[in-house]
Amino acid sequence: MPKLNEMSRDILGSFWEFLFPSRCPKCGKYVAEKSGWCPECLQEALFVRRLSLPLDSSFEEIWALGNYREYLQKLIKDLKYRRKMSALPFIKSLLHEAEPQLGWLAEGAFLAVPVPLFAEKERARGFNQTELIFTEWLQDKDIAMVRGLIRNRETMAMYGLNPAEREENLRGAFEAVVEEGKPLVQGKNVLLIDDIFTTGSTMEACGKVLKEAGAASITGLVLASDH
Ligand SMILES: [Zn+2]
Repeated sequence: MPKLNEMSRDILGSFWEFLFPSRCPKCGKYVAEKSGWCPECLQEALFVRRLSLPLDSSFEEIWALGNYREYLQKLIKDLKYRRKMSALPFIKSLLHEAEPQLGWLAEGAFLAVPVPLFAEKERARGFNQTELIFTEWLQDKDIAMVRGLIRNRETMAMYGLNPAEREENLRGAFEAVVEEGKPLVQGKNVLLIDDIFTTGSTMEACGKVLKEAGAASITGLVLASDH
Protein backbone atom coordinates (compact mmCIF):
# COMPACT_ATOMS: atom_id res chain seq x y z
CA MET A 1 0.00 0.00 0.00
CA PRO A 2 2.87 2.50 0.05
CA LYS A 3 1.81 3.72 -3.41
CA LEU A 4 -1.60 4.72 -2.13
CA ASN A 5 -0.10 6.44 0.87
CA GLU A 6 2.20 8.42 -1.35
CA MET A 7 -0.68 9.30 -3.61
CA SER A 8 -2.91 10.50 -0.82
CA ARG A 9 -0.05 12.52 0.59
CA ASP A 10 0.39 14.15 -2.81
CA ILE A 11 -3.28 14.91 -3.09
CA LEU A 12 -3.43 16.26 0.45
CA GLY A 13 -0.32 18.30 -0.26
CA SER A 14 -1.84 19.84 -3.38
CA PHE A 15 -5.08 20.55 -1.57
CA TRP A 16 -3.17 22.22 1.27
CA GLU A 17 -1.21 24.22 -1.30
CA PHE A 18 -4.50 25.26 -2.90
CA LEU A 19 -5.92 26.40 0.43
CA PHE A 20 -2.69 28.00 1.67
CA PRO A 21 -0.47 28.93 -1.27
CA SER A 22 3.19 29.58 -0.42
CA ARG A 23 4.13 33.16 0.15
CA CYS A 24 7.41 35.01 0.38
CA PRO A 25 8.13 35.40 4.12
CA LYS A 26 9.02 39.05 3.75
CA CYS A 27 6.65 40.72 1.29
CA GLY A 28 3.89 38.11 1.15
CA LYS A 29 4.02 37.69 -2.63
CA TYR A 30 2.98 34.26 -3.91
CA VAL A 31 5.93 32.02 -4.68
CA ALA A 32 6.15 28.70 -6.51
CA GLU A 33 8.36 26.88 -4.00
CA LYS A 34 7.24 25.97 -0.52
CA SER A 35 9.18 28.13 2.01
CA GLY A 36 10.73 29.98 -0.91
CA TRP A 37 11.48 33.67 -1.17
CA CYS A 38 10.41 35.91 -4.03
CA PRO A 39 13.36 36.89 -6.27
CA GLU A 40 13.49 40.51 -5.02
CA CYS A 41 13.56 39.66 -1.33
CA LEU A 42 15.97 36.80 -1.94
CA GLN A 43 18.36 39.16 -3.63
CA GLU A 44 18.21 41.46 -0.62
CA ALA A 45 18.82 38.74 1.94
CA LEU A 46 21.27 36.49 0.11
CA PHE A 47 24.84 37.77 -0.16
CA VAL A 48 27.41 34.99 -0.39
CA ARG A 49 30.89 36.37 0.17
CA ARG A 50 34.20 35.89 1.90
CA LEU A 51 34.63 38.20 4.88
CA SER A 52 37.82 40.17 5.34
CA LEU A 53 39.82 38.89 8.29
CA PRO A 54 42.37 40.38 10.67
CA LEU A 55 46.01 39.60 9.84
CA ASP A 56 46.41 37.35 12.88
CA SER A 57 43.23 35.38 12.15
CA SER A 58 43.24 31.63 12.82
CA PHE A 59 40.98 31.14 9.80
CA GLU A 60 41.81 30.33 6.22
CA GLU A 61 38.56 31.96 5.20
CA ILE A 62 35.22 32.90 6.69
CA TRP A 63 32.18 32.84 4.42
CA ALA A 64 28.87 34.52 5.08
CA LEU A 65 25.70 33.59 3.20
CA GLY A 66 23.31 36.41 3.93
CA ASN A 67 22.91 40.01 5.06
CA TYR A 68 22.40 40.33 8.79
CA ARG A 69 19.83 43.08 8.59
CA GLU A 70 16.16 43.70 8.10
CA TYR A 71 14.21 40.59 7.36
CA LEU A 72 16.89 37.92 7.72
CA GLN A 73 17.87 39.49 11.04
CA LYS A 74 14.25 39.29 12.12
CA LEU A 75 14.00 35.61 11.14
CA ILE A 76 17.15 34.74 13.09
CA LYS A 77 15.96 36.66 16.16
CA ASP A 78 12.54 35.03 15.90
CA LEU A 79 14.18 31.63 15.97
CA LYS A 80 16.71 32.41 18.71
CA TYR A 81 14.87 34.59 21.15
CA ARG A 82 11.23 33.81 20.44
CA ARG A 83 11.78 30.14 19.57
CA LYS A 84 9.64 30.50 16.48
CA MET A 85 10.25 27.29 14.55
CA SER A 86 8.22 28.74 11.69
CA ALA A 87 11.28 30.86 10.79
CA LEU A 88 13.40 27.78 10.15
CA PRO A 89 12.12 26.63 6.71
CA PHE A 90 12.76 30.09 5.27
CA ILE A 91 16.29 30.15 6.68
CA LYS A 92 16.91 26.69 5.27
CA SER A 93 15.64 27.71 1.87
CA LEU A 94 18.17 30.55 1.93
CA LEU A 95 20.96 28.03 2.57
CA HIS A 96 19.74 26.05 -0.38
CA GLU A 97 19.85 29.15 -2.59
CA ALA A 98 23.42 29.91 -1.49
CA GLU A 99 24.66 26.48 -2.47
CA PRO A 100 25.68 27.13 -6.11
CA GLN A 101 28.22 29.66 -4.82
CA LEU A 102 29.81 27.27 -2.34
CA GLY A 103 31.57 24.79 -4.60
CA TRP A 104 34.60 24.77 -2.27
CA LEU A 105 32.54 23.06 0.43
CA ALA A 106 32.59 19.76 -1.41
CA GLU A 107 36.37 19.67 -1.69
CA GLY A 108 37.48 20.45 1.84
CA ALA A 109 36.91 17.09 3.60
CA PHE A 110 35.48 19.17 6.41
CA LEU A 111 34.39 18.29 9.89
CA ALA A 112 31.75 20.83 10.95
CA VAL A 113 31.83 22.19 14.50
CA PRO A 114 29.08 24.53 15.73
CA VAL A 115 29.93 27.49 17.96
CA PRO A 116 28.64 26.18 21.29
CA LEU A 117 26.24 27.80 23.71
CA PHE A 118 26.79 27.70 27.44
CA ALA A 119 24.99 24.51 28.55
CA GLU A 120 22.60 26.35 30.85
CA LYS A 121 21.62 28.76 28.11
CA GLU A 122 21.07 25.93 25.65
CA ARG A 123 18.85 24.17 28.16
CA ALA A 124 16.80 27.32 28.64
CA ARG A 125 16.49 27.90 24.88
CA GLY A 126 15.93 24.24 24.13
CA PHE A 127 18.36 24.08 21.22
CA ASN A 128 21.51 25.44 19.65
CA GLN A 129 20.15 27.50 16.75
CA THR A 130 23.28 26.95 14.64
CA GLU A 131 22.70 23.20 14.75
CA LEU A 132 19.03 23.62 13.84
CA ILE A 133 19.96 25.77 10.87
CA PHE A 134 22.83 23.73 9.43
CA THR A 135 22.43 20.05 10.44
CA GLU A 136 20.27 18.75 7.58
CA TRP A 137 21.99 20.86 4.98
CA LEU A 138 25.42 19.54 6.00
CA GLN A 139 24.09 15.98 6.11
CA ASP A 140 22.98 16.36 2.50
CA LYS A 141 26.59 17.20 1.67
CA ASP A 142 28.01 14.30 3.70
CA ILE A 143 29.75 16.72 6.03
CA ALA A 144 29.79 15.29 9.54
CA MET A 145 29.20 17.56 12.50
CA VAL A 146 30.56 17.11 16.02
CA ARG A 147 30.35 19.19 19.13
CA GLY A 148 34.10 19.74 19.17
CA LEU A 149 33.96 22.79 21.45
CA ILE A 150 32.22 23.66 24.68
CA ARG A 151 31.50 27.06 26.21
CA ASN A 152 32.54 27.12 29.87
CA ARG A 153 30.50 30.08 30.94
CA GLU A 154 28.09 32.67 29.76
CA THR A 155 29.64 35.62 27.94
CA MET A 156 28.28 39.13 27.52
CA ALA A 157 26.94 40.41 24.20
CA MET A 158 29.85 41.83 22.20
CA TYR A 159 28.14 44.96 21.00
CA GLY A 160 29.24 48.03 22.92
CA LEU A 161 32.46 46.44 24.19
CA ASN A 162 35.86 47.69 23.01
CA PRO A 163 38.38 45.19 21.61
CA ALA A 164 40.17 44.76 24.96
CA GLU A 165 36.88 44.17 26.77
CA ARG A 166 35.80 41.66 24.12
CA GLU A 167 39.00 39.72 24.56
CA GLU A 168 38.60 39.73 28.34
CA ASN A 169 34.96 38.69 27.96
CA LEU A 170 35.97 35.65 25.91
CA ARG A 171 39.20 34.64 27.62
CA GLY A 172 39.02 30.98 28.52
CA ALA A 173 35.35 30.81 27.50
CA PHE A 174 35.84 27.98 24.99
CA GLU A 175 37.49 24.62 25.32
CA ALA A 176 38.12 21.76 22.90
CA VAL A 177 36.30 18.53 23.63
CA VAL A 178 38.73 15.70 24.34
CA GLU A 179 37.83 12.04 23.98
CA GLU A 180 40.21 9.21 24.81
CA GLY A 181 42.96 11.70 25.44
CA LYS A 182 42.63 13.38 22.05
CA PRO A 183 40.79 16.53 20.95
CA LEU A 184 37.98 15.62 18.53
CA VAL A 185 39.23 18.26 16.09
CA GLN A 186 42.88 17.18 16.07
CA GLY A 187 44.18 16.83 12.52
CA LYS A 188 40.80 17.81 11.02
CA ASN A 189 39.83 20.46 8.51
CA VAL A 190 37.36 22.18 10.74
CA LEU A 191 34.38 24.07 9.36
CA LEU A 192 33.32 26.29 12.24
CA ILE A 193 29.68 27.27 11.83
CA ASP A 194 27.65 29.99 13.52
CA ASP A 195 24.39 31.81 12.93
CA ILE A 196 25.76 35.35 12.82
CA PHE A 197 29.06 37.18 12.47
CA THR A 198 29.17 40.74 13.80
CA THR A 199 32.35 41.71 15.66
CA GLY A 200 33.99 38.39 14.76
CA SER A 201 35.40 38.05 18.30
CA THR A 202 33.51 34.86 19.10
CA MET A 203 34.65 33.14 15.91
CA GLU A 204 38.27 34.18 16.50
CA ALA A 205 38.18 33.01 20.13
CA CYS A 206 36.91 29.62 18.93
CA GLY A 207 39.48 29.59 16.12
CA LYS A 208 42.32 30.04 18.58
CA VAL A 209 41.14 27.13 20.70
CA LEU A 210 40.70 24.91 17.62
CA LYS A 211 44.22 25.75 16.49
CA GLU A 212 45.69 24.96 19.91
CA ALA A 213 43.78 21.67 19.85
CA GLY A 214 45.60 20.72 16.65
CA ALA A 215 43.04 21.36 13.91
CA ALA A 216 44.74 21.00 10.50
CA SER A 217 42.87 23.99 9.08
CA ILE A 218 39.98 26.19 10.15
CA THR A 219 37.36 27.65 7.83
CA GLY A 220 34.32 29.60 8.96
CA LEU A 221 30.77 29.57 7.64
CA VAL A 222 28.05 31.81 9.03
CA LEU A 223 24.45 32.25 8.01
CA ALA A 224 24.53 36.04 8.15
CA SER A 225 26.85 38.97 8.74
CA ASP A 226 26.49 42.74 8.83
CA HIS A 227 29.95 43.23 7.25
ZN1 LIG B 1 9.31 38.93 -1.30
